[in-house]
Amino acid sequence: MADHSEPILPGSYLGILGGGQLGRMFTQAAQSMGYKVCVLDPDAESPAGSIAEKFIKADYTDSAALKEMASLCTSVSTEFENVPAQALDELESLGVFVAPRSSCVSLAQNRIAEKNFLATWKSETNIGPAPNFVIEHDADVAHVPADLFPGILKTARMGYDGKGQITVYAAADLPAAWAELGKVPCVLEKRMELDFEVSALVVRGYDDAVVAYPVSQNIHRDGILHTSTVPAPSLKPLQEKKIIDAAKALIRKIDYVGVLCVEFFVLKNGDIIANEIAPRPHNSGHYTMDACVSSQFEQQVRSMARLPLGDTRLLAPVSMLNLLGDLWFEGNSDQAQEPAWNKVLAHPDAKLHLYGKSVPRVGRKMGHINCLGEALNEARQNCAAVATELGIEP
Ligand code: ADP
Ligand code: MG
Repeated sequence: MADHSEPILPGSYLGILGGGQLGRMFTQAAQSMGYKVCVLDPDAESPAGSIAEKFIKADYTDSAALKEMASLCTSVSTEFENVPAQALDELESLGVFVAPRSSCVSLAQNRIAEKNFLATWKSETNIGPAPNFVIEHDADVAHVPADLFPGILKTARMGYDGKGQITVYAAADLPAAWAELGKVPCVLEKRMELDFEVSALVVRGYDDAVVAYPVSQNIHRDGILHTSTVPAPSLKPLQEKKIIDAAKALIRKIDYVGVLCVEFFVLKNGDIIANEIAPRPHNSGHYTMDACVSSQFEQQVRSMARLPLGDTRLLAPVSMLNLLGDLWFEGNSDQAQEPAWNKVLAHPDAKLHLYGKSVPRVGRKMGHINCLGEALNEARQNCAAVATELGIEP
């Protein structure tokens, strides 16, 4: 068995499964610390693959490719939530230190397992999931408790950015909604009265040390993250503590090494609901790149390399604005345009991050801007000003 007790030091290769923007920002963080990066992705052109020292273009389950990765990297992580567990297991069996391990990633890939997990530990974390019912067979449809309506029917697998979800107002509408989702395994979840949404970002090291970032408050548009603001403007200190304690308890429960994001809903009545977990750095944690001592990507490097974790301290209030492909089209037309970068770059405290994707598409994540401020209001105003200049409704 490989020796997994020593830290992996700069100069070594670290491996990442998936070549999207999260993999690219991981690669940049690793490289700036002196590591080399090996990216594996099926796509010939990927944001991370194009900047890594080594790019392996292959399917995630390609054994020869995984062997090649294992021959270079003593540690591998994932940026892609739906990476097959089999790939992670295969790497582990080749002696690679895989963080997070496959059982943790599998849990986040399946909403049924995820909701069960959140419900199981509610007594210890003090925060549980929304009331829900699993639908896997035709017979289940008739047994959904009436008080779950109106509800949201969500596919158990492959849902993201609000995809694979249908609002179901009454029991009578459920069969059609389930058919529309292809009768795949689903969870019907009671639609809660949200006041606002937040996420907690926690990191656990190889040595069981756990650190948490300040909780971010998130606004979504059309199911896609629009802004994340820190400190969370609407969150009370006691609520923040409760959320961070829950996220820290969860990361330990699954013996998870790496960066974990947990999404929460704060309800109109003040109750808090745990919604889902992401087994990787998260869009709502991009603010850490400019506003914290250590970014979430640096922490991914540190946890993979079995180094002590970095400081999560917030250095300045921040509001992150997501940049979607929509910006590359004038109004709602298909007329191409280049976003007004000159205006964005004229803001001394707006930090622009573009992911190097050559083809913009509506809804595609192309970049983000971290807008800093000395006070929270200033960060928010900066964010609103930058959004307006780009033609995004603030
Ligand atoms: P995804 O994997 O697509 O992010 P989520 O479960 O996070 O799926 O749902 C996307 C969004 O839909 C959430 O951010 C929230 O705004 C809304 N939503 C999801 N579940 C509920 C619910 N039970 N009650 C009210 N709103 C919800
Ligand atoms: Mg979500």
